[in-house]
Amino acid sequence: MEPHGKIWKLLGEIPDPEIPAINLVELGVVRKIEGEESNLEITITPTYTGCPAKQLFNDLIKEKLEENGYKNFSITSTLYPAWTTDWLSEETKQKLMDEGISPPVAGDRVITCPHCGSTDTKMVSRFGTTPCQSFHTCNSCSEPFNYFKCH
Ligand SMILES: [Zn+2]
Repeated sequence: MEPHGKIWKLLGEIPDPEIPAINLVELGVVRKIEGEESNLEITITPTYTGCPAKQLFNDLIKEKLEENGYKNFSITSTLYPAWTTDWLSEETKQKLMDEGISPPVAGDRVITCPHCGSTDTKMVSRFGTTPCQSFHTCNSCSEPFNYFKCH
């Protein structure tokens, strides 16, 4: 069994506060789990520097570990290397699409409509449902959608 497999599994049960369909491990927020079970060291990278969920990630992880009997652990937040959308697996990107959220693309160049797959889209607002998302409409199917902004 992978070291800390149990902890990875536990943290994988924590839904992202903003996009509950995906969890903190899928999102790439949980970077490293080190140390002994009696003294865990967890490293996280927030998805977005201005993201209000940043403190929430800490709280959610703390709560999850405490619920499961872990008492001694530290949670370190690091911005280096910066979170990148490359950390999202294809499966996670698909989950975002299923939620009607266009998954992030490096450089925010081509934004695909999660409803019909068209790249003929336009931004309506820099902020979507949450500050980490922007709001768009699709010129092909006219449906509105959120786009998960890049770091
Ligand atoms: Zn569309």
